[in-house]
Amino acid sequence: MDVTILGSGGCMVIPKPLCDCRICSEARKKGVPYERTGPSAFIHDENILIDTPAEISIQLNRAHIMQVDNLMFTHLDPDHIEGFRVVEQIALDFRTWQAFPGKQIRLILPVPLMDQLRNVQSAYGSLLDYYVAQKFITCVSFKDSIVIGDIRVTAIPVDRGEMLSFIYVFEKAGRKMVYAPCDIRPFPENHEKVARPDLFVVQPGLFEKKLRHGFIYPTDHISRTTLYTFEETLALAERIQADQILFVHLEEYWNRSHSDYAALQNQFENVRFAWDGMQLSV
Ligand SMILES: [Zn+2]
Ligand SMILES: [Zn+2]
Repeated sequence: MDVTILGSGGCMVIPKPLCDCRICSEARKKGVPYERTGPSAFIHDENILIDTPAEISIQLNRAHIMQVDNLMFTHLDPDHIEGFRVVEQIALDFRTWQAFPGKQIRLILPVPLMDQLRNVQSAYGSLLDYYVAQKFITCVSFKDSIVIGDIRVTAIPVDRGEMLSFIYVFEKAGRKMVYAPCDIRPFPENHEKVARPDLFVVQPGLFEKKLRHGFIYPTDHISRTTLYTFEETLALAERIQADQILFVHLEEYWNRSHSDYAALQNQFENVRFAWDGMQLSV
């Protein structure tokens, strides 16, 4: 599988607007790979777009992507679906205000996520219903797993109550990528499908040192309920026997630059930190 990390940032882009910290100032000066936009990836084999942050149109243009056939969401937090309207940007034929033939996108989601997405609204009602009515998208819901061309996708729910989130396992020709960028705790590590991935795409979790203002996360901080620490994430990757680890969803508040991550990954044999536009072969 050929994959492009369209956006390597998290819920805060880098540079964060108006922020003059070291990380943001350097990113403003140097651009990519120091600059990071919201979390999104693209699988070229079947033209699968995963998640649409606010910057998705810019990301697709920047990566020279000329066709999107399938769209998936890991969950419905704003940093992953703010750019959902990209389906309209892509498909709209101004002559009919409907979709150009061949530009219609298949939205492929686990059943509960599709149900929840219907509740995401503009002032005029459900976005999903509007995009379907205009034929910008068609909806395909699935349970557990689905085949998209030559790729089998397995959806594994993360048990987070109302805050529904999915980890996706993409398999093709004996190769496997586990994609888990955000809201992954508690990680379903006993699910057979997450075992021994060739590539584990995951967020690094919480860094406890070298944060701005000398901040130290209190033991009862809210982030500790949603995030693993960096060390816990590494241990998790080892337990599922991931061959390669790619860290994404890199937050501005981790106070680390592209150079800092480059130095950190040198301490490991199988760890890399993503950047915007990074291309990988799985
Ligand atoms: Zn900053
Ligand atoms: Zn996120």
